[in-house]
Amino acid sequence: GFNLGIVGLPNVGKSTLFNALTETAKAQAANYPFCTIEPNIGVVEVPDDRLYRIAELEKSRKITPTFIEFVDIAGLVKGASKGEGLGNQFLSHIREVDAIAMVLRCFENPDVVHVEGSVDPIRDADIIDIELIAKDLESVNRRLERVEKAAKGNDKKAKEEFEYLKEIKEVLEGLEPLRRYKDKFAEDTWMYATKELFLLTTKPVMYIANIGEADLPEGDNNPHVQKVKERAREENAPVVVLCAELEAQLAGLEREERKELLEAYGLKEPGLHKVIREGYRLLNLITFFTAGEKETRAWTVVKGTKAPRAAGKIHSDIERGFIAAEVINYEDYIKAGSMVKAKEKGLVRLEGKEYEVQDGDIIYFRFNV
Ligand code: GDP
Repeated sequence: GFNLGIVGLPNVGKSTLFNALTETAKAQAANYPFCTIEPNIGVVEVPDDRLYRIAELEKSRKITPTFIEFVDIAGLVKGASKGEGLGNQFLSHIREVDAIAMVLRCFENPDVVHVEGSVDPIRDADIIDIELIAKDLESVNRRLERVEKAAKGNDKKAKEEFEYLKEIKEVLEGLEPLRRYKDKFAEDTWMYATKELFLLTTKPVMYIANIGEADLPEGDNNPHVQKVKERAREENAPVVVLCAELEAQLAGLEREERKELLEAYGLKEPGLHKVIREGYRLLNLITFFTAGEKETRAWTVVKGTKAPRAAGKIHSDIERGFIAAEVINYEDYIKAGSMVKAKEKGLVRLEGKEYEVQDGDIIYFRFNV
């Protein structure tokens, strides 16, 4: 599966948000017992109305959503890269996640101490970035030491590596996270930074602006939120504005009560839904469906995934024996009203092994056993 790590300074609302996630996960686990629950991991359903519409039309006996994992990465403080607090442990956990959700405190509350003495989400984000940058610099320097000598000789591979490292180091020494260079670096340099060195600041980031209840629904009048949005815009990163305390309350409620509480605050949906949706987008993920009387199910793949590989998500045998994919997109499917009717109208296409699966595709795979 795909996962997002939740990071932030102490007292910004991480645990509150993570509790909301695990409450949600626990409520869902009743229906999907295959989801084991670990203390620092919350596996939550990707909310998608399409799944339920399809299941309804196909009269499916079983409905299985797709999931995304959240990892609570506690323990970040200033100086983490030098081993302060749970420093090193914390940083190694970041290496394992696909993307980072950075929780930034935008709520004022004199009862909740701020570790840096005042509410300033931009300063906080910088503190986090600096720790990640410091750790990356450490990795880069260690590697440089190893290849420098070889690069002075005739070792072509080492020379190449040396050039990548110099380029990367320059950005880090300018105190910039590498994620801002995804499109500025040459493809090779970027691949080296991500797939060889697994540098922390290459991970995509989403910002979560945690506001107080009084600032709901949008937090538009909160100047901290404006600043977070500005920073995110510069990086082309998503922002979700939410109130962690409200999310925690919502997570414990039944459907109807939840709706009422959301309405009372002028909200259409829980902030957690936005977090999941934005996380999905950040990781470049899409959903396809398999549908039938027995089961309708949602599956997650990276955008650009070809049909056989997508089939492999279901079972490796289907990928191996792939013949063709019968495909219809959700919009066309809904217009037709059911799979049988869609077929009658000739709306179901036959696609081959080069077909790139699209978001909302409903697919039946033909394969040889
Ligand atoms: P963490 O250290 O980042 O995990 O922070 P916590 O989740 O433990 O939150 C620290 C304190 O801030 C707690 O007393 C929370 O009740 C409070 N808090 C968290 N989120 C909000 C929020 O959205 N609004 C307000 N007013 N207080 C919050």
